Amino acid sequence: GQTIGIIGGGQLGRMMAIAAKAMGFRIAVLDPTEDSPCGQVADYKIIGEYHSLQSIQKLAEVSDVITYEFENIHAEALNWLCSHAYVPQGTSLLEITQDRIREKAAIQNAGLEVAPYGVIKTQQEIYDNIEKFGLPAVLKTSRGGYDGKGQYVIKSEQEINEAAQLLEKGVCVLEQWIPFEKEISVVICRNSNGETAVFPVGENIHKENILHQSIVPARITKNAKDKAIQAAQQLACELELVGTLAVEIFLTKDDQIYINELAPRPHNSGHYSIEACETSQFEQHIRSICNWPLGQTTLLKPAVMVNILGEHQQGILEKIPSLTDWKIHLYGKKDAKYKRKMGHVTLLRDSVEEALAETEKSEIWSDVTEKIGG
Ligand code: ATP
Ligand code: MG
Ligand code: MG
Repeated sequence: GQTIGIIGGGQLGRMMAIAAKAMGFRIAVLDPTEDSPCGQVADYKIIGEYHSLQSIQKLAEVSDVITYEFENIHAEALNWLCSHAYVPQGTSLLEITQDRIREKAAIQNAGLEVAPYGVIKTQQEIYDNIEKFGLPAVLKTSRGGYDGKGQYVIKSEQEINEAAQLLEKGVCVLEQWIPFEKEISVVICRNSNGETAVFPVGENIHKENILHQSIVPARITKNAKDKAIQAAQQLACELELVGTLAVEIFLTKDDQIYINELAPRPHNSGHYSIEACETSQFEQHIRSICNWPLGQTTLLKPAVMVNILGEHQQGILEKIPSLTDWKIHLYGKKDAKYKRKMGHVTLLRDSVEEALAETEKSEIWSDVTEKIGG
């Protein structure tokens, strides 16, 4: 069979690998750690840095098709790959989504709205932009941030000094705070033939900037749903997507949508699709990069997905044997650090309310105050 090479050995790579193996592929993974979540299920492991040309070369040697599970791969490594290996997704979407400034420009070019923003290189520019669109505002590093790392929510002018420390990490963007009613997301896949498939819109609840749960179908109007799906289609088309694109959206009370950010890969908010949809986002990703016809994305049942962070793992482990109708996924990470994504659970029920009541009642996610690990 053919071998799919994955850059990055985290949980997204692991779930891609599991889907691909079920479809008959072999998996090679490049990751710096010996025992990565994806490495545990892969056929070949290449242990090395993502940007090391030597490692990338090794991955290319054993792979027929190369994909990635995270977006911060160095441009140099990417360029080498594109001329020496088969990377159906290309590199342009990666280059766009690695950088909030480029990403916002691309979203606007696709005819969609983002929160009013300014590019920030100096502390003075923070003042200038705040004068334009007021407070609160959020300062974000243009590159490298995730799970709210590399961000500062500025609520008063007194905080500008502290926020400006982010500039040490490079160019930033300052965004107006959008008083959203809901956060929603859409995952869309597209193959090289231009066939697209959109997953049902999910409603996302974050806790301390980390996704806590996704609720599908999202409890929003049909109008909002149509807008979100239309936005995803527009982006997939304009960006000439091959593979998977996740679109994070702010939805306001009057059903306006603002695109928050994009991820050029399967997304945490799409994990529910493993059990809740006819085809999962991971299978669909593999189909997309292989230019196979795409599967149906029909929602089989209302679903709630909840993340298991380091501080929740013990609670889950104690209950696993009795949780017969919870779909539990653990990613094989040894170190249950506070806030680290260790796994997730999905509940399929007759209504999302029923699923929500059940996860609430379990008390696994009631505020865990004791911090685990370092
Ligand atoms: P991810 O892990 O999703 O990549 P990230 O670190 O890139 O996260 P963002 O998605 O930019 O961060 O922001 C994290 C969260 O902060 C958002 O999901 C949203 O709840 C809040 N947030 C960010 N920007 C804004 C904004 N302009 N207005 C309102 N809320 C915002
Ligand atoms: Mg992000
Ligand atoms: Mg985000």
